[in-house]
Amino acid sequence: MKTKDAPVTKAYDVERIRAQFPILRELVHGKPLVYFDNAATSQKPRRVIKTESAYYATINANVHRGVHTLSTRATEAQEAAREIVRRHINAQHAHEVIFTSGTTASINLAATSLGQLLLRKGDEVVISGMEHHSNIVPWQLACERYGAKLKVIPITDSGEWETGPQGRKDAKGSTEQFFNERTRILAISHVSNTLGTINPVKKLIAQAKKQGIITVVDGAQAIAHLDVDVQDLDCDLYAFSGHKAYAPTGTGVLYGREELLERMPPWQGGGEMIETVTLEKSTWAKLPFKFEAGTPHIAGIIGLGEALRWMEDYDFAFAKDSAEQGKSAFAAHEHMLLERATKELLTIDGLRIIGTAKEKVGVISFVIEDVHHYDIGTLLDQQGIAVRTGHHCTQPLMDRFGVSGTTRASFACFNTCAEVDALVAGVKKTLKMLR
Ligand code: PLP
Repeated sequence: MKTKDAPVTKAYDVERIRAQFPILRELVHGKPLVYFDNAATSQKPRRVIKTESAYYATINANVHRGVHTLSTRATEAQEAAREIVRRHINAQHAHEVIFTSGTTASINLAATSLGQLLLRKGDEVVISGMEHHSNIVPWQLACERYGAKLKVIPITDSGEWETGPQGRKDAKGSTEQFFNERTRILAISHVSNTLGTINPVKKLIAQAKKQGIITVVDGAQAIAHLDVDVQDLDCDLYAFSGHKAYAPTGTGVLYGREELLERMPPWQGGGEMIETVTLEKSTWAKLPFKFEAGTPHIAGIIGLGEALRWMEDYDFAFAKDSAEQGKSAFAAHEHMLLERATKELLTIDGLRIIGTAKEKVGVISFVIEDVHHYDIGTLLDQQGIAVRTGHHCTQPLMDRFGVSGTTRASFACFNTCAEVDALVAGVKKTLKMLR
């Protein structure tokens, strides 16, 4: 897939990519759509849309339940998608891939089940100050239930973890330790949805592991932009959503190391997740079904498999042909857009970028003096440009930077330089109208 000796033959062909996204032909307020809200949800290529609708047109049946042909086909298609996910994130076994409705469900599963397994009064869970609410609230609930404490890694002015990576200097110059003998769980995001920061998760996981701490990674913003390898990261659990990676909404994954998943109790009861049920007691199905109660989003899961295959086909096809062999071509393209947007936006008077880490994906959050982000978002929309405004489900991070919200543009493989220029021109026009 990512060969080292491929010839350099072809540049990144963004128009070829764009042609596969039907929605990009839509007009918004009579203007061509410029879609810069990919961190909230990405658009879907035709192959994914077709795969999902073909399931309903030709296969639709419940999985793992019937002996009839359609049920067998549905089961085979779903389990093929599980294998695609396994390969894409380099998990050791397909049964380490649990299908959920998204990152939020995956982390709730993790927090509920790990809480029951690990947390006792006085124990500690470590998160960071840049987490999405989905990676804060489930841990707060678990801590509250078991009398544990939530500890938070602070964030620097540039939007990075303030760790060394094991601690920071306090006023007296001694290092504050985030991990101690009561730390049971580390739950951190791979990439920040608000700042774009790519966190050095591998390094922190290695430190945590030395102390026997279970590690959970929120990969919601990483899966579409980084080459995620769960064995290389050596994390215990890894969560992501399909819809941020060109797949249908309502799909997600919790990867878990087999040995840990075997020990974790189920989090939801119902059909599919049991081996036997009597009125007195039930026993659990084997992995991954122990964690998959009820009928899953079968069409979406099959679409998720297709989305990952689509990414592999196009991303690595370009990567193979590009000067930067072995690197994700999508990521390189998005990084080029990020650099262009950063440079041009910074020429605007009073504009400040929140999140200036050295390692970033294509996410740019900014505030403008005396202008409300909501007004910027609304006036950009009038020009056909879709950006996100508000706190981006990271209220503690907004508090850290002393702002109520930001305007966020987030790039995907199909965005262009011309669109970035339209954004910059759009912001300038908006300011003229407002000032
Ligand atoms: N974690 C991060 C970093 C996110 O960016 C998001 C969504 O924006 C989530 C978790 C929650 O994802 P979902 O709404 O797909 O469950």
